[in-house]
Amino acid sequence: MATLLVIEDYPDNMALMRYLLGAYGYEPLAATSGEEGLRIAMKERPDLILLDIQMPGMDGYETAAALREAGLKDTPIVAVTSYAMVGDRERTLASGFDGYVTKPISPESFVTEVEKFLPEELRRPRPGEVPG
Ligand code: MN
Repeated sequence: MATLLVIEDYPDNMALMRYLLGAYGYEPLAATSGEEGLRIAMKERPDLILLDIQMPGMDGYETAAALREAGLKDTPIVAVTSYAMVGDRERTLASGFDGYVTKPISPESFVTEVEKFLPEELRRPRPGEVPG
C-alpha cells in the first residue's frame, strides 16, 4: 500500500486531508513544516508527497527544491495551494512539482485527484472493486 506524506502547517487542512485519505484506506505520514517534511521524506521514502505552498520557514517551493536536491528525483510531489493566480500552475510545474490540487480542499474529489499521481498498483481498491 502506498506511503503518503502530507506536509501542511495549518491544522484544519491537515486534519481534513488525513480524514479524507483515511476514509479511502490511506494512512498518511504528517509533517507540519518543510523542515520536518524533508526529514521524514528522507527516512521513510514515501510514494507520494502532498506539499502545502504557504508555510512559515521553508515554503512549498523551497521544500520541493530541497526534496529534489536531497535525491527524491522521481517521487511525485503534489502542491496543495489556495493560490488562484494565473501563472501559479506554471510556477509549480517549473519548481519540481508534478501537479497540484487546489484549496479549499474538495471532500468529493480530493482523493481521486491525489490518486492520479499514484501508480495504479499503489491505489486503494474502491468498495466493490476487484483489486489487481
Ligand atoms: Mn499553509
